[in-house]
Amino acid sequence: MFKKIPLHTQIIAGLVLGLIFGLVIIQFGISPEFTVNYIKPIGTIFINALKMIAVPLVLASLIVGVANLGDISKLSRIGGKTILAYLVTTVIAITLGLLLVNVFEPGEQLPQDTRDKLMAQFDSQAGSKAATASAIKDQGPLQPLVDIVPENLIAAAADNGSMLQVVFFAIIAGIALLQIPKDKAKTFTDFFDALNDVIIKIVEYIMMIAPYGVFALMASLIVEIAGDNPDSAVELLLALLKYTMVVMGGLLLIIVGVYSTMLKAFTKISFRDFIKALRPAMLLGFSTSSSSATLPVTMKLVEEELGVSEEVSSFVLPLGATINMNGTSLYQAVAAVFIAQALGMDLTLSQQLTIVLTATLAAIGSAGVPGAGLIMLIIVLEAIGVPGAGVALIIAPDRILDMFRTVVNITGDAAVCVTVASTEGELPAGLIRDSNPFTPNV
Ligand code: ASP
Repeated sequence: MFKKIPLHTQIIAGLVLGLIFGLVIIQFGISPEFTVNYIKPIGTIFINALKMIAVPLVLASLIVGVANLGDISKLSRIGGKTILAYLVTTVIAITLGLLLVNVFEPGEQLPQDTRDKLMAQFDSQAGSKAATASAIKDQGPLQPLVDIVPENLIAAAADNGSMLQVVFFAIIAGIALLQIPKDKAKTFTDFFDALNDVIIKIVEYIMMIAPYGVFALMASLIVEIAGDNPDSAVELLLALLKYTMVVMGGLLLIIVGVYSTMLKAFTKISFRDFIKALRPAMLLGFSTSSSSATLPVTMKLVEEELGVSEEVSSFVLPLGATINMNGTSLYQAVAAVFIAQALGMDLTLSQQLTIVLTATLAAIGSAGVPGAGLIMLIIVLEAIGVPGAGVALIIAPDRILDMFRTVVNITGDAAVCVTVASTEGELPAGLIRDSNPFTPNV
């Protein structure tokens, strides 16, 4: 009976109902155990299912994507445009973040006792993040580049955080395919082409449980964040409200300012149609906080709703989900300066320029999984001489900001994809169709 309701409406309903459910559980002091034992697993199954197909999808779609470009010159043209667009949007995002955080100075407002409380919370709650953080801080700023080349492909594919290494291998394999005899290459390409289609089909199955998965994710998130101590959660969120608003304001500006201008300048598609087509992916990014997990849905929408060819989307999007994170870059710039402000450190112009460089590398190196941006922020902090442990100050609202920045990360990839497709002359104006691509098959 739900089949008539569009997917994005179902997902919103799941989101809102999950939120209400979580609040009711907290409000009436109902034991969080029920939610943790019986609701959360549904969300975990949903995310696991999406992650399950992420590696084969990236591998298959990029190998086929590169090989289908036909020749090296087309690859360098489309690849060049894509990487240029990703770099330009990243630098714009970071600059915008720096501008906002310097104008609004959210860190100057942070009261000392809140800072102490957050530090204490960091000590008790963020053990694993702190451990990863200290491992990262011993590395040089170019470590993200070193990390691109896998020592072992199978290990990279098995490790959730190593998508960039999988991307690297897939691109190299795709290039090699272009340079061996066509008849031999065909067997290989056909296999991955079929694998690609199989995975896209599996996405349709997974999307059948999306509204329930999103409900479970929201309900358990609320119960876990605010379950033990609703007052302290609210207090912390309020104390960091200004910082949060600056990040959110910046994220909004990227979408309505940067992407809409980009679409207007390079494509015939209206901003409204673009957002309309992308809604299910944006909502999914919001509730999973993972651009990698959302990738299959983004690919399907960009192809079926906006008319981008598989040739372009299967090259541009998997690459973007891994290296292009405009939301994360803006957030890292704001967070780094905010922490410095809160600790009473004045940053020089050259330190702020260092943020532009390191935040670009950090965003490239961040995996498209929840919380990756927070961990990579350590690189940015250490590069400008701010103690890495300062991330403690922003851990409280980070889970929420992760949801919003992931939406921007996904939207940015799609905007670049549509732009590249349009400059290749393949994009019709307007939506291909006005319906939900999942409904007919689900
Ligand atoms: N969660 C983000 C993503 O998947 C990365 C981040 O933590 O900023 O795009």
